[in-house]
Amino acid sequence: MKGVTVIEHPLVQHHLTRLRDQATRPEEFRRALGEIAALMLYEATRSFAVRAVPVSTPLARARGCRLECEVVLVPVLRAGLGMLDPMLKLIPHARVGFIGLKREETTLAATFYHESLPPDLKRFEVILIDPMLATGGSAVAAMDRLVAHQVRRVRLVSLVAAPEGVRHLRRSYPTLPIFTAAVDQKLNDKGYILPGLGDAGDRLFGV
Ligand code: URA
Repeated sequence: MKGVTVIEHPLVQHHLTRLRDQATRPEEFRRALGEIAALMLYEATRSFAVRAVPVSTPLARARGCRLECEVVLVPVLRAGLGMLDPMLKLIPHARVGFIGLKREETTLAATFYHESLPPDLKRFEVILIDPMLATGGSAVAAMDRLVAHQVRRVRLVSLVAAPEGVRHLRRSYPTLPIFTAAVDQKLNDKGYILPGLGDAGDRLFGV
């Protein structure tokens, strides 16, 4: 699928298997989600623009580089929270925004209820964190909010994607880079990804 990077790294696939396993308890689920989130961020930021800067070591001058743009991590509430802290460990100077979306049980539509984003979003590299790209409704709604704030550089990190969700997102945002650990088979009639890992928020918070 064009613009979709499936991260095949053995460690990513190892942690994904722990997350899929129904025997994995919330404590272990949180740990595995943190471990995979850091690895996925590493891959998702591979093409970040950098600026050459000189640096003086204790012995000599060297060529170095810095990130060209500041970074904003935007988890979609609630499951996105589980990937935030480990990503912040890799980019401690990142800002954090939040987008709150609730999925209606019957219609599966994403209802917007909260947003907090830094001003002047257009100067940032934005990482949108939406762990389950299922129907694509929440990812499209979150992207709509970012676009309303004039985002220019954005990529999506989704732990698991369904083909239906990727197609939905592609219709509205054809060039958005998507990073995922797996594109699964399909959605079930309740909008859950098969085989997926169940309800990511419930498994993360043990409710
Ligand atoms: N949200 C989840 O947490 N899991 C799914 O499979 C679909 C949406």
